[in-house]
Amino acid sequence: MTDCGIWIAGHNGMVGSAIKRLLEGQGRKTLVVDRSELDLRDQGAVVRWLKANKPSSVIFAAAKVGGIYANDHYPADFIYDNLAIETNIIHGAHLAGIDRLVFLGSSCIYPKFAPQPIPESALLTGPLEPTNEWYAIAKIAGIKLCQAYRKQYGRRYISVMPCNLYGPRDNYNLQTSHVIPALIRKFHEAKLAASSQVVVWGSGRPLREFLHVDDLAKGVVYCHDHYDEYEHVNCGAGSEVSIRQLAELVGSVVGYSGDVVFDVSRPDGTPRKLMDSSKLAALGWRPEIDLRSGLASSYSWYLEHIENQGQREA
Ligand code: GDP
Repeated sequence: MTDCGIWIAGHNGMVGSAIKRLLEGQGRKTLVVDRSELDLRDQGAVVRWLKANKPSSVIFAAAKVGGIYANDHYPADFIYDNLAIETNIIHGAHLAGIDRLVFLGSSCIYPKFAPQPIPESALLTGPLEPTNEWYAIAKIAGIKLCQAYRKQYGRRYISVMPCNLYGPRDNYNLQTSHVIPALIRKFHEAKLAASSQVVVWGSGRPLREFLHVDDLAKGVVYCHDHYDEYEHVNCGAGSEVSIRQLAELVGSVVGYSGDVVFDVSRPDGTPRKLMDSSKLAALGWRPEIDLRSGLASSYSWYLEHIENQGQREA
């Protein structure tokens, strides 16, 4: 049988492009389709495309994503787009006879006050963090879709939950980005303008677990090749930093020596979401990129691709 390749849904995003780099580096065949050619929210179009192109498997990295401000302000976009994309791709893969699919979720699926580090079994044991519950509900639905098609049709569909991610092709728009690209940009611009202070949202006390997207890509491809269980699997860095510590680290990587002030009128979001990734570690996956070197390479990427090309709202 001809190998039609692994469809990377969302190949232009930060996660999808990292997975594509890794698979192509391993000499494996991949399949991609641009957003201009296929709207993943269009059920008929997705089913037709899957039946016509017949990928050997799917790595599902497509999603509407954003930081705390975007999640809080565009709840309808986050729940509708993600639910539509998930039902279309997962049901469509089944209709097209594709037996293998890896769905990517997020650590925000877990309850706001889950035990730390959070085991996979904490899913659906308590209320969610309100700033991103819309996105979280859609991602929980994605896990359940994979489990339902496995249970009813025997499909080998699995789900991987990453922690907070960063790396090349991150979104540097201050309104919609996550905290790492926001701080890289804010510190860089403050350095250039010789500003006396940088404003960081919230109290600085929330703790976050950050994983470089190239480490995640290895975990996802490893799961694609070897993991085949009903339960989703966590993929995190295994360590956490406070937003205050992160701001100090980004300031030092960028070379900014002014003050950091905290704007407590902005939400903190969930206080802590360190995942227990021992299940994936037991299968042999380990993160390799430490936060400081990952931040340094992200800053270089920012300088090369965003700052120097004037694509600041990219
Ligand atoms: P979250 O993990 O879903 O809350 O995603 P974010 O990456 O957007 O935010 C993580 C934490 O960083 C939250 O406590 C934010 O309030 C805090 N934070 C501090 N400054 C910023 C900023 O400029 N942008 C964003 N997105 N978050 C920031």
